[in-house]
Amino acid sequence: MAYLASRSATKEIINKYSFAFQKKYGQNFLIDSNVLTHIIIDAGIRENDFVLEIGPGIGTMTQYLCETAKQVMAVEIDRMLIPILEETLSAYDNVEVINEDALKLDIAKIVEEKNGGEPIKVVANLPYYITTPIIMGLLESGAPIKSITIMVQKEVAHRMQSGPGSKEYGALSLAVQYYANAEIMMDVSAECFMPRPKVDSTVIKLTRYDEPPIDVKDEKMLFKIIRASFNQRRKTLANGLKNAPTLNFTKEEIERAIENIGKPLTIRGEALTLEEFAQLTNALI
Ligand code: SAM
Repeated sequence: MAYLASRSATKEIINKYSFAFQKKYGQNFLIDSNVLTHIIIDAGIRENDFVLEIGPGIGTMTQYLCETAKQVMAVEIDRMLIPILEETLSAYDNVEVINEDALKLDIAKIVEEKNGGEPIKVVANLPYYITTPIIMGLLESGAPIKSITIMVQKEVAHRMQSGPGSKEYGALSLAVQYYANAEIMMDVSAECFMPRPKVDSTVIKLTRYDEPPIDVKDEKMLFKIIRASFNQRRKTLANGLKNAPTLNFTKEEIERAIENIGKPLTIRGEALTLEEFAQLTNALI
C-alpha cells in the first residue's frame, strides 16, 4: 500500500470504499506529507516507543507512526473506516486498530496490558469537537504517558498556554499547566486537510511532568476550586466560590483564605496563577 499523504491517494481510497465524511466525528484527514513528518519529529517517536493514536481516520498518520515506533494502537470510533484501515495498514505488523470511542478507553489498563506499564506516547490529529475531554481524560487518567502531541484548533492550543490577563485563560489552561509543559510546535493551514476545516490548526506537545510544578495538599479540591472560579467568570472569586454547588465553604472561610494569600476580596479568579490557586486551596482546607 502506498502512502496516503496526498490529495490524490486520499481521494482514491475514499472513492474505492464510497466513504462519506462524517461531520459529527470531526473528520478532516491530513493530506500533507511535510506536516506528517514534522509531527513525528515533534512527538520524538523512537523505535522502542509504544504509541496510542486517537482517531486514525484512513490511516494517513498511522502509516508514519508504524514506520517509526515499535508498536501502535489506533482507536477509531467510525466503523466504516475499519475495513479501509485493514487495507491501508496491511503492510505493518506492529499496529492494532480498535473500533471504539476514545473517551471510553481505560488508558491505564491499556498501558499495563500492552506495554507492561511502561510510559507511552500519544499522537493525534484530534476531532475538534472533543478536544478538551480527550486531553483532560488523558491527563487525569493517571496512566503513564510521556507526552501528548496533538493537532488542535489554534485557539485551543493558545488557551492551553495562556496565563492570567488573557481572555483565553481558563480551567483548561490551568489543568494542562498542572500536569505538563506545553509547547506550540507549528501552525497548520486548512489546505493540508481534506475536507478543509473552517478553523486554523496548531500542533501542540504536552510533556508530562514527573512531579507537578506546584505544591497542593488536595489535587481534587484544587480543580474543584478552579472550575468554580471560572464557572462564574464575571463574579469575584469570593462570590464564585461561595455560590458553587460543588463546594461548601462559608463566606468567612473564603474571605479569610483570600486575605491569607495576600489578595484583595474584589479579585476575580481569572487573575490568579496556578501557584496562587494552589495557595488558596491550601489555605481553605
Ligand atoms: N488521523 C487522521 C488524519 O490525520 O488524517 C484523521 C484525523 S480526523 C481530524 C479525526 C478522526 O477521529 C476521525 O477519523 C474520526 O472518525 C475519529 N474520531 C472522532 N471521534 C472519535 C472518538 N470519540 N474516538 C475515537 N475516534 C474518534
